Amino acid sequence: MTHYSHTLDAVPQTLPVGKVVCVGRNYAEHARELNNPVPSEPVLFIKPSTALVKLEQPLEIPSKFGACHFEAEMAVLIGERLTGCNEQQAATAIAGVGVALDLTLRELQSTLKEKSLPWEKAKGFDGACPVSVFVGVQNITDLQNQQIQLRQNGELQQDGNSADMLTPVLPLLVYISQFFTLSPGDIVLTGTPAGVGPLAAGDSLEISLGNLINVKTEVVS
Ligand code: ZN
Repeated sequence: MTHYSHTLDAVPQTLPVGKVVCVGRNYAEHARELNNPVPSEPVLFIKPSTALVKLEQPLEIPSKFGACHFEAEMAVLIGERLTGCNEQQAATAIAGVGVALDLTLRELQSTLKEKSLPWEKAKGFDGACPVSVFVGVQNITDLQNQQIQLRQNGELQQDGNSADMLTPVLPLLVYISQFFTLSPGDIVLTGTPAGVGPLAAGDSLEISLGNLINVKTEVVS
């Protein structure tokens, strides 16, 4: 497995590689496609730093735990410490924006959910968070109007817009920082739009965020 480090505006960063805080069901249509209720407040979970790999490199997915689903998501790179922050502090702490895959062992997750057990094994395994290079926040005019698309073998599977987040980025960072201090180098995944599905070895993937980021990658077993 390749060693991960952050890249921002094509420059390798000295920011530490930290945790990844994720939000589940942040798009109503995606909650519905998995027969989950639309939550009244953010559903949070964490992937460890060992889940991070570079999206641009071939993706190694586990083969012995059932289906591994893609979830394309806008990723936010944190540049300053946030604890119990307000929206203004959250806005100035964002270093950059990228795209990530919240890889999910869906069958294992369903089994764990049925038993009311935590999801960690299904969401936090090694390689479970491929993430792109980041674009500096100064280059982004509107975080909440970015198209998030994923093509699998040329077919458009996910086509959502960050405008449809139930909890937009700034209130999401405020909410997260009430529970988990966000440190420089941490990443926040902001939820997936509808259209998630299983990956297979040999798949080619193209993932984009507006006209900011476009990554082509492939799946290996
Ligand atoms: Zn997700």
